[in-house]
Amino acid sequence: MNQPIDELRALLTSPQKVVITMHRDPDADAMGSSLGWALYLEKKGHSVTIISPTDIAVNLLWMPTAERVLTYEGSKSRPKECKEIINDATLVCCLDFSAISRLKELGRWVNEAQATKLLVDHHIEPETFADIMVWDTEAAATAQLIYQIITEIDGPDFFDVPMAECLYAGIMTDTGSFRHGNTTPEVHLAVAGLMRTGFEVNKVHRMIFDNSPLLRTKLLGHVLSENLHVLPEYRTAYMTLTAAELEKYKSGTGDTDGIVNYGLQIEDVVMSALFIERKGEVKISFRSFGEFSVRDLANAHFNGGGHRNASGGRTTMSLADTVALFIKFLPFYKAQLLSVEK
Ligand code: 5GP
Ligand code: MN
Repeated sequence: MNQPIDELRALLTSPQKVVITMHRDPDADAMGSSLGWALYLEKKGHSVTIISPTDIAVNLLWMPTAERVLTYEGSKSRPKECKEIINDATLVCCLDFSAISRLKELGRWVNEAQATKLLVDHHIEPETFADIMVWDTEAAATAQLIYQIITEIDGPDFFDVPMAECLYAGIMTDTGSFRHGNTTPEVHLAVAGLMRTGFEVNKVHRMIFDNSPLLRTKLLGHVLSENLHVLPEYRTAYMTLTAAELEKYKSGTGDTDGIVNYGLQIEDVVMSALFIERKGEVKISFRSFGEFSVRDLANAHFNGGGHRNASGGRTTMSLADTVALFIKFLPFYKAQLLSVEK
């Protein structure tokens, strides 16, 4: 990681007009790493605008300075302003994604921008559109990489409480609260470094996990009791959510995050899938244990990608057809699914 850091260090010695962007439907890592990086750059005298391709989940709006994030599309979208700011930038930072398609329409302006492009990411997609790449698929979270970059450039004492809250939120969520296989010694070292700022760990956990609107919790109950199916011969669980159900439970961006993980709590299940019917497409989330790669499955059949044990994809078919396709492919993966140790 030394060469890109040296390039970045050199670049940041003069004031930059920075745009930070992240993947669509940003999660806590996308938002946390973007806000943490923005706070860092501003502390060093750069000017920063953060642009999200889509609306931001309400359970992330507590993050320090989250209210300043512009959205390219969505309820308060400002596409023209976003485009102008990107055109005017000297440095465009792409955080927590490595495929331009993850930006939706915004991707066009990022692609065409004349600015230097920095990519910081931990996904397994092979796109290489950036000039400087801090790309480590072993990292648990983009926020962990941001921690490491800042530590290398300015040392471990540069962090403050708002930066730490943002970065911790990303690391905590992408490791499933420090229990997924990606929870390495480096993860705990980063967290230890952040905790030295004295920020309140418990507050971040509460704001993300113990802050659910009643209907969101009821939606979870509904999915688990009515829409959860297990295919024991494939050690697979899957769940569905129709557009009408989302409407009934007033479910917005982010409200369905985490539901897919419940499938893996069932004994002997090693893969879980959640199919959500949303705005003319079906969005799919996959989770797995061990060697079974849901990234490969999402990439091969569902226009998606992500990580070995957490991936996503989408189709323009109906919900029923998408589920049928998934079930049709399972026999090809049966041997792999049966060989996973749980
Ligand atoms: P989630 O299920 O939480 O939406 O996504 C899980 C992981 O898969 C995340 O790392 C996310 O970036 C990735 N992912 C989700 N949807 C897509 C997609 O449509 N395309 C790609 N390439 N990755 C996705
Ligand atoms: Mn991430």
